[in-house]
Amino acid sequence: MAERTEWVERAEWVANGVAMLEIWFGQTAIMACYLIEGESRRAIVDTGTTSSPSQGLVPALARLGRRIEDINLVVNTHGHIDHAWGNGEFKRLAPRATTSLHAADTFLRHPDALARFWHLRRVAAGDVGPEAAAAHAQQLADLAHADPHFPEPDANHAGGDVIDLGGGQVIEVIHTPGHTPGSCSFYVPRAKALLSGDSLTGSAGSGRFPLLSDVVAYRNTVLAVQRLDVEFVGPAHRYPFRPPLGAVETPARRGELARRFLADTLTTALDIEAGAVEAWQSDRHAPRAVMVTEAVRRTGARIGVDLSGNEHARAAAGLWLDAIGGAPSDA
Ligand SMILES: [Zn+2]
Repeated sequence: MAERTEWVERAEWVANGVAMLEIWFGQTAIMACYLIEGESRRAIVDTGTTSSPSQGLVPALARLGRRIEDINLVVNTHGHIDHAWGNGEFKRLAPRATTSLHAADTFLRHPDALARFWHLRRVAAGDVGPEAAAAHAQQLADLAHADPHFPEPDANHAGGDVIDLGGGQVIEVIHTPGHTPGSCSFYVPRAKALLSGDSLTGSAGSGRFPLLSDVVAYRNTVLAVQRLDVEFVGPAHRYPFRPPLGAVETPARRGELARRFLADTLTTALDIEAGAVEAWQSDRHAPRAVMVTEAVRRTGARIGVDLSGNEHARAAAGLWLDAIGGAPSDA
């Protein structure tokens, strides 16, 4: 396979004063940042990984006739490596920009936090054998080569905050935990646009099953956003819809597709819960790993996709079984 040299997939206006910047990082991974413009200030939602500001965002902004040094504000949807770890490099290129992150995600500045999170998910899923331990050790080794952390944010935003960009363009901060504790979505009322990061993860498919740290918080987040008046939903990745629509080749969801994405995300969250409840009811004394496998099978059958072997699905099922108070430990 040829080495990638072009890092911008798309840079386009998607709603009133809102542009989507879909950029590659590494050779095969892709994510979307968003530009929000008011009369007096410009904000960027997420900065990607360490390489993203210079490699992806500078040329993406140039396609729209914008310069990175004219950005005043970085708002991070959450603290994961492909969303906030570009903050330090971004500030070097745009010295006037300030950064903000929800306080509940500041612990993710440290790579160990991510590794610990993965480990806890494996335990929840009952995957505690030698293979899981080896995978965990490998992830720790990989992270040791990653950047040690991203800089402390200049400010913390919280749900209910309103950020004024001038000329009637405002950003409403909505706390949408579940993917991470400090996950936030940014609602731009003038554009009826919801920029959701990884807070809403659509339906389920191979490798795109919701990555969750708290299943109860996620279900409540997904319920709460249904009330919003949306014409555009912009997640950070190309999260799939439920079958038969399935995968789509852009993160952008407009009009009917935006509303369908919110509905599919809700139905899927409820199916994960139902799968766990049904598995628990079918045999309350089954070992944890067996109960998790059964929960994943039932969730997959509800959605219409094969989820066997999907580790995000196993972790979510394990977290739900804990929330129900059901699954015995294998230890
Ligand atoms: Zn994330």
